[in-house]
Amino acid sequence: MNRRQWLRWIGWGWCLLSLLAYGLANLPVWAEQPALAAETYWKVGLAQVKITPEKPIWLAGYAARTKPAEGVLDDLWIKVLALESADGRRAVLVTSDLVGFPRDLADRIAAAVKERFHLDRSALMLTCSHTHSGPVLKNALWDIYPLDDQQKQLITEYTTWLEKKIVECIGQAIGSMEPARLEAGEGQCHFAVNRRNNKEAEVEKLRAEGQSPKGPTDPTVFVLAVRKVSGKSSGNGASSKQEQAEASTLRAVVFGYACHNTTLADYLWSGDYAGFAQIGVQEKYPGTQAMFYIGCGADQNPIPRRKVELAKQYGRQLADAVAEVLSKPMRPIEPTLATAWVEIPLAWEPPKEEDLKKLSSQENYQGRWARRLLAERAEGKPWATAYPAYPVQVWRLGQKQLWIALGGEVVVDYQIRLREIYGPATWVAGYANDDMAYIPSHRVWQEGGYEAGAFSVYGHPAVRWAESIETDILQAVQRAVQAVGIKPQATFQK
Ligand SMILES: [Zn+2]
Repeated sequence: MNRRQWLRWIGWGWCLLSLLAYGLANLPVWAEQPALAAETYWKVGLAQVKITPEKPIWLAGYAARTKPAEGVLDDLWIKVLALESADGRRAVLVTSDLVGFPRDLADRIAAAVKERFHLDRSALMLTCSHTHSGPVLKNALWDIYPLDDQQKQLITEYTTWLEKKIVECIGQAIGSMEPARLEAGEGQCHFAVNRRNNKEAEVEKLRAEGQSPKGPTDPTVFVLAVRKVSGKSSGNGASSKQEQAEASTLRAVVFGYACHNTTLADYLWSGDYAGFAQIGVQEKYPGTQAMFYIGCGADQNPIPRRKVELAKQYGRQLADAVAEVLSKPMRPIEPTLATAWVEIPLAWEPPKEEDLKKLSSQENYQGRWARRLLAERAEGKPWATAYPAYPVQVWRLGQKQLWIALGGEVVVDYQIRLREIYGPATWVAGYANDDMAYIPSHRVWQEGGYEAGAFSVYGHPAVRWAESIETDILQAVQRAVQAVGIKPQATFQK
């Protein structure tokens, strides 16, 4: 290579180096540009799918039913809200007119969603209304229903279909993201009654005398409003005109309330009070997707009950409570998001063999449970000594809005305690991601009774949880809350 060629090479090299240096110096600017353009807003995608079974499947929730469903009172739905923060973090909320998500179904949906949409487990919240007029799902409380092989086949087919529909619905929501504003608020509703502390027949008399039913309860209604970016914020004073104006800005409303969804015990498909509340909100705000999740309402019942008119009345009360929140100024939620997922083993006390032998002659779900466990023992199959992975999920929306989702049938003490620890704006979902058993607080555990155990309903080899259950769960929540960067306002240690 001669001198001229050398100079040419040096020239080219210099040019390339300069370009590289310029690029490196300006790279952060290029990278920031998309985030800057979208930083003011969330993106929200919505989808829903009707899941009312077309075949006569057994209805979930009560052991006393003697035949499958006979028709439809109101349709059952899966509804999805997909969120994306300004920096591109995503989370998906699923609400459902189901009694709960069996863990294996929840795990399969989460795995499919991770594979197809790259969503972390912490970012998928599977919730339910806990309606007792929805379908039995595969592997959920099979001991308590007298299912024959044909019913088991129908339930298996329906569960497979449902799983596919849920994943598709999540895909539709993620695929339809549009800029949106989120707002938070809380209201009150008063039909939930502590069922451990009040006799059902006496509640109406108590109220007629101007007295409140006894025992802990939480009347809070949690409300998340999804509004169009172009729409104006809410004003004051509820009226139908106001509601019409709101409807033009609202895209979706998510609301939660802590009360068993057990007004009805019939043979018709229904979302029960929660179904009528969603219908009521959608009628007030046409074009809006209303979504309900149950809070920690395991020891709360709608009382009185067992009439369709009562389910509709409670639905109207809840829809009115939601409308009242929407009609007042709400807290804007900044478009930032953090999600966390913590699983802990929860220890339980095993049953005594002699107690199981006594139960095993009964022709009911307790008999079926006892016979199955005794057969497992006879086969040398060891009983589990703990529930292996109790799920605790926490979302932070914006800088402050905390949303805690606990698995199982959680009693109201948890919701009350968590709102003391993390502040009154904290939202709590029960029955989320898993429905393994009742989850008593330490108080309920000490008192005993149905919500302290009821393991034969769920089929586990247990008679009650370990005494540390409340502390174990509150510690797991604390870890998850710390992971999303929020400090408690009080300590949970007494
Ligand atoms: Zn229940």
